[in-house]
Amino acid sequence: MKITDILRSEKPGLSFEVFPPKTSALFDEVWEATKQIARLHPSYMSVTYGAGGSTAQYTAEIASGLKEEGVTPLAHLTCVGATKERIRELLRDLRARGIENILALRGDIPAGYDRETLAFHYASELMEEIRAFGGFCIGGACYPENHPESVNSTADIESLRIKVEAGCEFLTTQMFFDNNILYNFMYRLYRAGIDVPVIAGVMPVTSKSQIRRICSISGNTLPQPFLRLVDRYGDNPAAMKQAGIAFATEQIIDLYANGIQALHVYSMKHPDVA
Ligand code: FAD
Repeated sequence: MKITDILRSEKPGLSFEVFPPKTSALFDEVWEATKQIARLHPSYMSVTYGAGGSTAQYTAEIASGLKEEGVTPLAHLTCVGATKERIRELLRDLRARGIENILALRGDIPAGYDRETLAFHYASELMEEIRAFGGFCIGGACYPENHPESVNSTADIESLRIKVEAGCEFLTTQMFFDNNILYNFMYRLYRAGIDVPVIAGVMPVTSKSQIRRICSISGNTLPQPFLRLVDRYGDNPAAMKQAGIAFATEQIIDLYANGIQALHVYSMKHPDVA
């Protein structure tokens, strides 16, 4: 089923994200966790794509397996460093596996990479390629606190308008920890006339080390109530996990109460968190 049809029919919707393994030795462990999350009957599940295509095969295999488990898969696909022929080859494989939904991303450009040599400079170019290939429901990423490379929020929103024109049918947000940031972002989208469905991404932070990583990657703002939780429970792993789940749950309740219809939980490979 296409994600856009799910978003129309299931309100409110709840989906989860899993990471494919980096090596075949870890495949069984990740697949077992994925199956356990699938048994919660989410609206759909997304499977990420390792930087530079390192997990392409596992992303496709887990996405196909989800179909067999009765859950609609959303396969992530990044284009940075890939040739157009490589992307078409991956699209043929996804089509052959009956996967209908792709989250089309640029991916992070590795340091020192010569941008001039890239076949794809932005996710919107990948979206055009997928649209020309045909048959897929295409989603994209968006950033309530702006993408780190964006000079300002006007430029950031403009890039989303370009994505939608290139075929993007829904957007999934980067995680955020203050719902007001999401509400302001939704207003900016509305003012720009961007009316594709937006799926709000929530990350239950369950350990202190995760927080440092998240901030270094995405530059998220961490609100005071969240920081107080970390101060109080950060050094007690079991308590931090419960506190992180409780914080995310409150966030989710507030989002639903304020009319956000679709939520995506960055549960990684943790069925208990999901
Ligand atoms: P783009 O949309 O291309 O944007 C990148 C930057 O370029 C932004 O600053 C944007 O404003 C600007 N821009 C875009 N188009 C134009 C244009 N036409 N002209 C000028 N500027 C433009 N990474 C992975 O490696 N694997 C994953 O599975 C993965 N999943 C993700 C899922 C979500 C929901 C999110 C939010 C991110 C995910 N990422 C993943 C991270 C993502 O690859 C990085 O954030 C990457 O740096 C940008 O990808 P993008 O698709 O948003 O790029």
